[in-house]
Amino acid sequence: MSRVILQGIPVSAGISVGKAFFMNRRSFANVPRHTVPESLISAEQARLDRAFQLVNDELTQARDRLPVELADHASIIDSHVMISRDRKLLARSREIVHDMAITAEWALEKAVREVERKFEVIEDPYLRERIADVRLVAQRIIKKLLGQHTGTEVEAGVSNRVVLMAHDLSPADTIGLDISKIMSLATTEGGKTSHTGILARSLQIPALVGVTDLETYVNDGDLVIIDGLKGKLIVNPEEAELEFYSDLKYQFENYHKSIMQECHLPGETIDGYRINVFANVELFDELSSVNENGAEGVGLYRTEYTFLSRNELPTEEELTDEYMQMAQILGKRKVVFRSLDLGADKLARVFGTLQEPNPALGLRAIRFSMRHRDLFRRQLKAVLRASVKGNVALMFPMISGLNEIHEAKAVLREAQRELEAEGREYDPDMPVGIMVELPSTVFIADALAHEVDFFSVGTNDLIQYSLGIDRLNRHVSYLYQPLHPAVIRSIKYVVDAGHHAGIEVSVCGELASDPYCVPILLGMGVDTISITPQAIPGIKRIIRQTTMEDCKKLLKDVQEHFQVSAINHTVRESIFRQFPEELTFYASILDNEELPA
Ligand code: PEP
Ligand code: MG
Repeated sequence: MSRVILQGIPVSAGISVGKAFFMNRRSFANVPRHTVPESLISAEQARLDRAFQLVNDELTQARDRLPVELADHASIIDSHVMISRDRKLLARSREIVHDMAITAEWALEKAVREVERKFEVIEDPYLRERIADVRLVAQRIIKKLLGQHTGTEVEAGVSNRVVLMAHDLSPADTIGLDISKIMSLATTEGGKTSHTGILARSLQIPALVGVTDLETYVNDGDLVIIDGLKGKLIVNPEEAELEFYSDLKYQFENYHKSIMQECHLPGETIDGYRINVFANVELFDELSSVNENGAEGVGLYRTEYTFLSRNELPTEEELTDEYMQMAQILGKRKVVFRSLDLGADKLARVFGTLQEPNPALGLRAIRFSMRHRDLFRRQLKAVLRASVKGNVALMFPMISGLNEIHEAKAVLREAQRELEAEGREYDPDMPVGIMVELPSTVFIADALAHEVDFFSVGTNDLIQYSLGIDRLNRHVSYLYQPLHPAVIRSIKYVVDAGHHAGIEVSVCGELASDPYCVPILLGMGVDTISITPQAIPGIKRIIRQTTMEDCKKLLKDVQEHFQVSAINHTVRESIFRQFPEELTFYASILDNEELPA
């Protein structure tokens, strides 16, 4: 068998070497496509009704039998239960059977493709990937229609620990599977924020997603290496590679053990400078990893998921419940709720489709909330109600100038007045901040600092809007340069402006979880970084092993250059000298050299 190296996206760190085991998943490509005589149309529709019902029953039961290791994922399975109960998907499939006189399987496939087209225009990767859930449930229903098993059959095939491969994988698929038999995961589908990553991280096993050609090159029983550090999958490796990786695995496991032991210590440099290390959270279920990885708070709660995982918009009561629970669980630790950062495209099912040639520059985030004031007020009331249950703060995304802050605050006041009229409690001193992610906001940060309680720099978008590159467009990804001098100057300017006005400045984009970038942020005097929970232990180790003096020197050296390659070189040298171990175990944004792909 020939050796092949495939590239994927690492979503759970670690190394594993083992035999591949494919989940027997069929894609839509294999759905039989037949027409049916008119006399059988209602029978086909009845088959659809029954298959939806059977899958709904199966998922509901699976939800109740969830293994303890996966208990955190109940809400994901709940969302699958909801999809299987989705009247619109069933009704549309029935309609297609009727209009086109085709089989139930084919009609459902077509209905899902229609949903897919709606999701394709969504620019937020996390939300766009939620189409995968619709597809997974539809595949289950199609399997039912075809009289096949629906995923739990894998259990019987697994005797030793295996590297589980799948086209796509959801927690619901692993029900019935003995998870102690899975040593790592790899899927063809999925991106950075797909459930596979969340699942793998909670099981603490290495995982890769988005491995193109996985199904072409890997067969059941092939020996594979999963490099969950740098994103490689090696099929039928050579002897020397096996040796190299078993050594790396040993080193990584020791390193990981030691950073986990220290992860609850504060993020403090050797010379006593303290920075808050908070977590970014997308799902309520991720709260357990916030605790496990030593996060000192939640610096960014992306509230979008609750609005997208269901057909109707959540009510004020539902939002309040969620936010209150969050605040209560975190207790004294801060949680920063970001108001909706959605585009018009993402809630088209509720508000109708809006033709926007360029959604990234369109009606999104605070602009969308201001257009749908009732919905905005509903969310703000829920955050306010939660503010009496813990240490709660609120921030507005994509603020571009002063008027927007005034307008958003006016809605906040309306929400407060409504709560007063209803006799409900809220904290009148709840801190209110803004995300700084547009160049316009950077340039007037000194003026805006007097209007808010804190700044949070969203570097993912700040880089996109400053350098004029779509953060999701792989053709220009070589220009996504976190250490571009304009980006460094912007962050520094915001930190200085914030501190001058006496407010805190946090950085919550990916940049803050990169071992190359953190010392520069420290050198600037950033008060808080907020990052993926799993990155916290390693980043804390870096903070605790450096000095403010070194970080300031690095920042000064970096500021002397205007060429990104020179900056990257300076940073790489300095970090390599101080933290050789970390660089072996981390995939940095700077590892992708600054050359066109
Ligand atoms: C950012 O833009 O850096 C950010 C943290 O927000 P999001 O990634 O959700 O756009
Ligand atoms: Mg953003």
